[in-house]
Amino acid sequence: MQEILIDSHKYNIQQIIDRIPRDIQLYSEMMQPETGLQKAINNLENTNTFFWLRRPDNQVLLKSTTLNLLPEPTVAELMSLTKMSIKPQVYQVNQSYFILGYCDLQVQGKLLGKLFIVQDITREQTMFVTMVNSLKIASALAILSITLVISFYIQRSLRPLRQLNQMTSVISVEDLGKAQLYLDNAPSEVKELAQTLTMLLSRLSKSWEQERQLVSNVSHELRTPLTIIHGYLQSILRRHNNLTEIQLEALKTAASEAERTIHLLQDLLDLARADSGYLHFQIRPFLLNDLVEEVVAMAKKYSDRQITIESVVHTIEVRADYNRLKQILLNLINNAVNYSEAGTPITLKLDQFNDRATIQVCDRGYGIPLQHQARIFERFYRIDESRSHATGGCGLGLSIVKTFVEGMGGSVNVQSKLEEGSIFTITLPL
Ligand code: ADP
Repeated sequence: MQEILIDSHKYNIQQIIDRIPRDIQLYSEMMQPETGLQKAINNLENTNTFFWLRRPDNQVLLKSTTLNLLPEPTVAELMSLTKMSIKPQVYQVNQSYFILGYCDLQVQGKLLGKLFIVQDITREQTMFVTMVNSLKIASALAILSITLVISFYIQRSLRPLRQLNQMTSVISVEDLGKAQLYLDNAPSEVKELAQTLTMLLSRLSKSWEQERQLVSNVSHELRTPLTIIHGYLQSILRRHNNLTEIQLEALKTAASEAERTIHLLQDLLDLARADSGYLHFQIRPFLLNDLVEEVVAMAKKYSDRQITIESVVHTIEVRADYNRLKQILLNLINNAVNYSEAGTPITLKLDQFNDRATIQVCDRGYGIPLQHQARIFERFYRIDESRSHATGGCGLGLSIVKTFVEGMGGSVNVQSKLEEGSIFTITLPL
């Protein structure tokens, strides 16, 4: 746009440059050359167009009267612009804008000098700059309002998705089948998504139930024959008089593997029962100190570790399932033995706070890296497969501990530091 404006002025000046020698020639034929020259210039001048004629010796021969309208310094500066291209150019002089052009002026074959023609375009230029600035502000405002409107609509259309996300994030495994995702004020696409998700959750619940049933049935069906096999192996081992050394070793391995698998099946069965809500606890009051002493005596039989009991309170009576709590503590002591160097001590600490009893199983073993601590209670989760593999576990021990403890109304947590040891704390109601 600015180019068009300047070009139209340049064109104007070029027209004058083309026309003025002809006019001067015409007037000079009718009157004195100087009068003809002045007359031709007077004809072309207006409040925006200025002329002056500079002789070859650099003297100003004549000026248009309109030059008096411009401030003197501006006129002086304009007149000093001698190095110019032959084409009209834009010049900025003291905050004003001019287009300046010139031509050689000859009258009756004689070179009179250079005729300079100037047009003031300050007004147009200022108007243009103001318009550009207003346009800039208007565009910025338009962009800002469009952005605000778009972000408002995006927020509004994302709201149902956020609601859906909140609803699904609180659905637990137990609630899978009962979950109903319904959104009131949502676009039909999101409502359809919610419906599809509800159907998906129901299918998931069914397959989860089938899987639980399968694990439960398989564990049950395998446990009985394995227990019989284990029984036979034990009785053969007891009467091993006519067995060779190799046969005896093979039978011992078979018996221990059978026993390990029976434990694994029992764990799977317990977890499957807990999942379907059929895990029953025989809750009764008993002295925690007695149970812990019994467990430590049992643990000492299969490990040569120094296991000590520290009790702050003399006697602590809890309400829990005696056998399951025994299993829990044996699991934790077993882990403490497996995941620490031989010869390091294990301590069981008993304490009581308000209406809760705590049992801590502390070891000075390898410790558990922080990023694994939250996951070790998950089923089949093991940290260092190579190290854990040697112990023969399969990652169910701690999930059994958690399931049993929570089933008795308690909780379990772990504090651990690498290469310093771990503390598993069980809290039970008194
Ligand atoms: P398993 O012992 O059969 O591997 P668990 O569920 O008992 O399975 O334990 C899960 C994992 O937690 C183990 O593989 C082991 O890496 C880690 N862990 C459990 N107890 C301890 C402990 N006292 N010290 C260090 N790591 C432990």
